[in-house]
Amino acid sequence: MTALSSLQSKTSDLFNSKFGAGPGLKAGYAPGRVNLIGEHTDYNNGYVFPMALANIGTIAVGRMTKKGEINIVSSADVSPNSFQYKSVTTELGDIPQWARYVVGVVKCFEDLANRKVSVDLAISSNLPMGAGLSSSASLEVAVFSLLESLYDVTNIAKIDKIKACQKAEHKYANVPCGIMDQFIATLGDVDHALFINCETDDYEKVPFGDESLLLVVTDTHKKHELAGGEYANRRATCEAVAKSLGVPSLGEVSIDQLVKHFCTPGRDLSHLPDKAYPRSRHVVTEIDRAKKGKECLVAGDVRLFGQLMNESHKSLADDYQVTCKELDEVVQVAWETEGVVGSRMTGGGFGGCAITLVYRHAEQALLDRLREFCPYSSSFSTTAGRGAYSWDLPE
Ligand code: ADP
Ligand code: MG
Repeated sequence: MTALSSLQSKTSDLFNSKFGAGPGLKAGYAPGRVNLIGEHTDYNNGYVFPMALANIGTIAVGRMTKKGEINIVSSADVSPNSFQYKSVTTELGDIPQWARYVVGVVKCFEDLANRKVSVDLAISSNLPMGAGLSSSASLEVAVFSLLESLYDVTNIAKIDKIKACQKAEHKYANVPCGIMDQFIATLGDVDHALFINCETDDYEKVPFGDESLLLVVTDTHKKHELAGGEYANRRATCEAVAKSLGVPSLGEVSIDQLVKHFCTPGRDLSHLPDKAYPRSRHVVTEIDRAKKGKECLVAGDVRLFGQLMNESHKSLADDYQVTCKELDEVVQVAWETEGVVGSRMTGGGFGGCAITLVYRHAEQALLDRLREFCPYSSSFSTTAGRGAYSWDLPE
């Protein structure tokens, strides 16, 4: 049984035990993701370069009802694991945090499709929650895809679907996320990554991976609890530097301009926050690495892509200072393993996951070494997989 077919059985079983078996069942799937390169560039109007995980994501199984309610059950370790939403009486404050993602998506779908939704829904995922692999967008896009199928709505543009899912996360779950996660969960494709311009939402599909390569994802299991203030502080610093350069965002600044700004003798920069130079240097060089990384993959130069991944990690560790001991250890072990092309932390940092691009012949050696030297971590291997889709379930 493949990972997805066992996830589908699990979700169907959950549905049947909660709501009862019967006709009219459909399923929606959306994957989790990793960002290959381009970290902390999104809110600086730069570029990100995510790929969808193959067969690792969320499945939502559902059926239309006439009850005028949204009934949801999740197999995840959340309490309570089921929730009933009645649009007339339920207040946002009554909804458990995890169910807000689902209710939010239903509401945003209703607005776009101009339909009232009444459904029973069961949800299962084989993604870790809160590990930086975007279980949240995977959940949102899986539910949205299911609703499109249940209500036979075929005219919603992909970008509107993406923005509706992002809006659900902003407005209902109260998480001010960027647009990358919903983008890749919707538009990811087998053996491709998406190069996204965060200023314009333009994107390019770029071939990623050949048969000799795998991506190993290593979860440090370190939670980034205290990261909120650190992110806000990094973001404020980026904005302050852009302002002092007279531009709307660091996305418009070249490395030469930045060096000149900070290294011209006699210039008074005392109004800028502490570490303004290394922080902005990370962003500007990372945007450049993301662009170069895309060019490398277009040209099939995997070796140089790996070097850019390594440089990205060093910049995140030294200049942006968002790695942690565990992420640095995992990446160091990968760097010292024969057959590794490149390795870096992925996601916001302070915990979460690292990714390592490795030749298949070296996969086992890498996994063994990670188990030995980073026993707190767990790893899985993946390639670039499909974005969201939906299907009918047999009776
Ligand atoms: P990430 O997206 O990196 O996994 P987030 O903090 O953005 O981390 O989203 C995780 C949250 O999404 C969980 O705490 C939970 O509220 C919700 N979530 C994700 N997947 C599920 C699921 N299968 N069932 C219930 N809630 C889920
Ligand atoms: Mg998320």
